[in-house]
Amino acid sequence: MNSSPLTSPYIGRFAPSPSGPLHMGSLVAAMASYLDAKVHLGTWLLRIEDLDYDRNVEGADLGILASLQRCGMHWDGEATWQSRRLPLYEAALKQLQDDGLVYACGCSRKEIQDSVLQAGGPKGGVAVYPGTCRHGLAPGKAARALRLRVPQGPPAVYGFTDRWAGPQQQDLAGEVGDFIVLRGDGYWAYQLAVVVDDGEQGITHVVRGADLLDSTPRQLYLQDVLGLPHPGFLHVPVVTNGSGEKLSKQTGALAFDTGTSAADLLASALLPAARFLGLDVRADKVDDFWRQAIPAWAQRLARLPEQA
Ligand code: GLU
Repeated sequence: MNSSPLTSPYIGRFAPSPSGPLHMGSLVAAMASYLDAKVHLGTWLLRIEDLDYDRNVEGADLGILASLQRCGMHWDGEATWQSRRLPLYEAALKQLQDDGLVYACGCSRKEIQDSVLQAGGPKGGVAVYPGTCRHGLAPGKAARALRLRVPQGPPAVYGFTDRWAGPQQQDLAGEVGDFIVLRGDGYWAYQLAVVVDDGEQGITHVVRGADLLDSTPRQLYLQDVLGLPHPGFLHVPVVTNGSGEKLSKQTGALAFDTGTSAADLLASALLPAARFLGLDVRADKVDDFWRQAIPAWAQRLARLPEQA
């Protein structure tokens, strides 16, 4: 490792899902987390979040690693794959079960949506789980998922100050409800796995896209019930296409094939990503790019209202 927790208390990470090649949106998240680790003389880990087996694309993990290397973003230590860490999630679930915080739920997505409508809730949008199976599965129903109880009432309001987006808060009971930690098909929920891994890897700073801002209160709550510390959070704006939709791996793919010259890499990937983050960098070599981008990130942070 270039730096270790012994030399800096900062441990950050980039945690891509291997559902396709690195794209402008994921490059922006990778760049922000890499720069933040470098500015703090910290460690930058790489974790492949490959637990959604239906969305994994064969070879995308190695493709992402190669693209990061080509961009000059070198991670510390060995990259990890969530699919190789399943005993950690099993142990965390056991802890939650022993504490009586988990129950089996037999509701389908449609049933949840219908009970929200019956209770006068909005059509479409995010359905807050109404707690139907909180006191046991209805007779004849099979478990479709395991859910984590969130506390009811005022203590369920989780607030935090995002280093980029400022103060945030969410009423877990009122806006999310008891949420899934293990799906009926045996897939681990992102929320559980990310918290277990961030805890086990000693992550002190999470830097990622703002599409995950509203997952953060669930993660803070999980950290509390698992006895894990809260890392700091910084969510960078999400790159959208012309119609304001979040770029997907399909729409925003970047060409990182080995034929691409350093000039193309800069012009088509690194410089636009830096510009999106508000960094003033004008390099024509990849090494120079990073030499300029690291102090530019420090200056960018100093201009954020939260850093004042
Ligand atoms: N794996 C998630 C994604 O690719 C990111 C998770 C995180 O950074 O917490 O969107």
